[in-house]
This record gives sequence, C-alpha cells and structure tokens, in this order.
Amino acid sequence: MEHFVYTGNPGRVIFGSGTISRLAEEADRLGARRLLVLSTPEQESQAQDIAAHLGTRVAGMFSKATMHTPTNVTADAMRQVEALRADGLVAIGGGSTTGLGKAIAYRTDLAQIVVPTTYAGSEATPILGETEGGRKVTRSDPRILPEIIVYDVDLTLSLPVSMSVTSGMNAVAHAVEALYAREANPIISMMALEGINAIVRALPGITQNPGDKTARSDALYGAWLCGICLGSVGMALHHKLCHTLGGMFNLPHAAMHTAVLPHAIAYNASAAPAAMDMLGGKLGAADPAQALFDLSRRLGAKMSLQELGMPQGSVGAAVEQAISNPYWNPRALEKEGLTDLLERAFRGDEPRAK
Ligand code: NAD
Repeated sequence: MEHFVYTGNPGRVIFGSGTISRLAEEADRLGARRLLVLSTPEQESQAQDIAAHLGTRVAGMFSKATMHTPTNVTADAMRQVEALRADGLVAIGGGSTTGLGKAIAYRTDLAQIVVPTTYAGSEATPILGETEGGRKVTRSDPRILPEIIVYDVDLTLSLPVSMSVTSGMNAVAHAVEALYAREANPIISMMALEGINAIVRALPGITQNPGDKTARSDALYGAWLCGICLGSVGMALHHKLCHTLGGMFNLPHAAMHTAVLPHAIAYNASAAPAAMDMLGGKLGAADPAQALFDLSRRLGAKMSLQELGMPQGSVGAAVEQAISNPYWNPRALEKEGLTDLLERAFRGDEPRAK
C-alpha cells in the first residue's frame, strides 16, 4: 500500500424511510430551541411538514433559497436569523437550500440539521460556494459542515425524473474526481466506487418508476457516499469548469454537471490511468467517458450546454476564467484542449480528448 493521508469529517447521519419523525429528538440533541427552517419557494410545503415535526422548537421559516447561493439572499436570511434570535438551522431541500444554511452557519456558527431531497451531496461537505457579481467563490471551513444529516428517502420520491438523473450524475462527478484527486486514498476511493455503483444501478430504475423506494434508497445512499468524497479530497478540472460556468451564466447546476462530466473525464483520461481502470471496471466499459455520456443521454439528460442556457460565443471567456485561478488537475490545463472540451460540451457532442 502506498503512502496516503486520510482526513474524516465528523457528522451524524440518520438514514431510512420516515426518518423525519426523529427530527425533534435530533434538535434536542443539539440543544436548539429557536430553529429557522430553510427551503426554496418550491419546497415551502415540505418545509411546513418538517416544521410540524419540530413543533415549538421552530422560531420561523425562510423559503427563498436560490441556486448558487447568491450573497444578497444570504443577507436577507441573516436579517431573519437576527430578528428571530435563531439558535439553529434546519435546511430541507437540495444543494441550494443546504448552501443557504451553510452560508448562515459560516457567518454565525449556528448548528445545522440538513434534510437532503436531491443527490447533490453538499450536506456531507465543509464547502460553501457563494455567488456575487457573476463569480462563484468557494471556501472550506469547519463551521460550514452540517452537524446532522437526516436522509429520508420518502422526501426524494417527488424529485422529478429529469432532476433525479442529473442530480445523480452530479454525485457521480464528485466520486469520479475523487478517484484521481491529488489526495486520493483507498478509503475515499472505496466510497467513490460504491457511490458510483449505487447511483448508476439506481437511475434506470428511478426513470422507469420514480416511486421505486429501493432505487430511491440506493441513489440517496450513493449520493451520501459521493458527498463524503467531495468533502474529503480536492476536486479538479470538472468542478472548476462547473463552478466557472455556474457563476458566469447561472446554468442549472446538476444538468450542467451532467453535460460537462464525460468531457472532463475524456480530457483527464490519459493522465489518470489507474482511476480510469477503476471507473471503467465499475461501469463495465473500456471508455468510461463515453459510457457516462451514453447513460445520461439514454436516461433523457440534455447533453448540450447551449440547450442549458450557455450563451453563444462565450467559450473563450469561460476558459480564460477557469484557467486564471485553476484547481490542481492530473493533466495540465491547456487552453486549446479546454476550448475544444467546452465547445464539444456546448454542442452536446460525444466526448473526445484533444
Ligand atoms: P436545487 O437545490 O437548486 O434544487 C433544484 C430544484 O428542485 C429546486 O426548485 C428545489 O426546490 C427542487 N427540489 C429539490 N428536491 C426536491 C424534491 N425531492 N421534490 C421536488 N422538488 C425538489 O438543486 P441541487 O442540484 O440539489 O443543488 C444545486 C446547488 O447546490 C448549487 O448551488 C451548487 O453549487 C450547490 N452544491 C454545493 C455543494 C457543496 O458541497 N458546497 C455540493 C453540491 C451542490
């Protein structure tokens, strides 16, 4: 076994069906008596259900969580935190709501309970990406890591099929980049492969029957594992490109990850042969980039960034921004290769590395 460093993030996880009935007990464990319940406007009624489980422990609700965590929304929520004298946070929803909770926790160190309803995996990481003035800035801090995660598979049954597919691929992206991360280690690689396996196995079942609780459970379990990968080792080119595109063009997060992932894998394949062997072995394919492209397309995902809202003629600016402040990557970031990568993703072409 080669030398490695492994750092585990602390956290308590409740996983199952009907687990939101344990929320009050978990809030008491944290000693919280004046909770602020967070959600997006679309999930306000799910947030009301959560609040009903928490009873008098709820001081108020804030239902304006927004994708890519814009700082003006956080400022609005902070005014409510202060006015209510909140002493804890419950975030119910996907990465957008989790992100808002993390942004508040970063500023206040309030304890967080997260009830995830997508496969984004943010709940398992000490990472916060915030957007201001068209730029997404990412930071990592122990205050950002949620204390408790309550996974209730029942709340994921309503996640639309198209979002389930792309959110699942968002999770797979965390695991793929963990396999070739600079800090890659055998524990995280084991979780990454198990996470990929669970999600890739679950997604076809979810598309056939969105109410299939076994498939939904597998996907949620996989999402947790992939989230741990994201929170434990550094991410590379794929996440850099998605942060750049998300900040510049406000593209839908999970869908954008799905469209970019096969191209990022193709770009990195020659520089990460061991990771490609592991990934190919899990997917049962000699070309993992092509296999994930085919799977996503077969399950109905849009594979063109143009279709997702990226403006015509913007590839050059995106490459410039991505290169200007790069993450570590197994292959050097070459302007020509990255331009080709994004042009392919823009058109929705099959993945090929230049
Ligand atoms: P999202 O949270 O924006 O959710 C998309 C939409 O789906 C929202 O309208 C939401 O209310 C709705 N939704 C969520 N779950 C639902 C359900 N079960 N039923 C019905 N509707 C549901 O999307 P996302 O992809 O989960 O999160 C994206 C955001 O998360 C981005 O801002 C991204 O940067 C962030 N993120 C952060 C990390 C991290 O570690 N910091 C990791 C992953 C994602």
